[in-house]
Amino acid sequence: MLVNLKEMLECAKKDHYAVPQFNINNLEWTRFILEECNANNSPVILGVSEGAIKYMGGYKIVVDIVKDLMDYLKIDIPVAIHLDHGSSFESCQEAIDNGFTSVMIDGSQLDLKQNIEITKKVVIYSKKFNVTVEGEIGHIGNDKNPENDGILYAEVDDCVKYCQESAIDFLAPALGSVHGLYKGEPKLNFERMSQISGITNLPLVLHGGTGIYDEQIRKSIECGIAKININTELQIAWSNAVKEHINDNNIYDPRKIIKLGEIALKECVRNKILLLGCKDKI
Ligand code: 13P
Repeated sequence: MLVNLKEMLECAKKDHYAVPQFNINNLEWTRFILEECNANNSPVILGVSEGAIKYMGGYKIVVDIVKDLMDYLKIDIPVAIHLDHGSSFESCQEAIDNGFTSVMIDGSQLDLKQNIEITKKVVIYSKKFNVTVEGEIGHIGNDKNPENDGILYAEVDDCVKYCQESAIDFLAPALGSVHGLYKGEPKLNFERMSQISGITNLPLVLHGGTGIYDEQIRKSIECGIAKININTELQIAWSNAVKEHINDNNIYDPRKIIKLGEIALKECVRNKILLLGCKDKI
């Protein structure tokens, strides 16, 4: 069934596991992810970036694809459709109006006061539709910045003020993770993670799940992380598998080309479900 993230993440926080957010890019990815999560009785969050929404043909088509696939494949795990890094109130509003069950408003480029303002506006709108809201404090790294990966570590006091005043449902504090591939070692601030988790009492989100060591993932969950976003790792697993056979002249049907990556993608999904401890957590 389609759900928001409230119960999903509260259960995860309470029972010390994390729910994966796998980003989707097209119909086939959505299908592969739904099938594998269903086979493992794992709840799943389908993360959709604004870029992916544009690529797939708009907010409505994303929701229609997910709903119709769930129906056709008889998916009976909890599934959330979550806007990843919503860049404006209007983007969150459009996602909500079209049936997304959860949204992230990313005001991390703004100062704290403006971030609180925009997040509050999204929260007020979302509540009318039973949609959950994620917010970001500090700035999660971006591999396009060669200097420092663009990381700005979240401060505990800012997180407290932000959560209290905006009334978000869960928080993504930037604590050293980076979107995409790491240039060096991931340097996560676990102490601060625990402090933020304890003091805000909200489920926390770890972005940039690709390339974080398994041990660090387990420790993050101990420190209050209840949702982990994974995108690049799936893309690499899928594209490496496709590249192995793409030059075979007998393969030209686009359905067969896309399917070349199915096993690798599903294996990656399964491994993450096991690592995050959410197998059979429905
Ligand atoms: P990765 O691409 O590093 O796995 O990060 C995904 C993410 O955080 C999406 O919000």
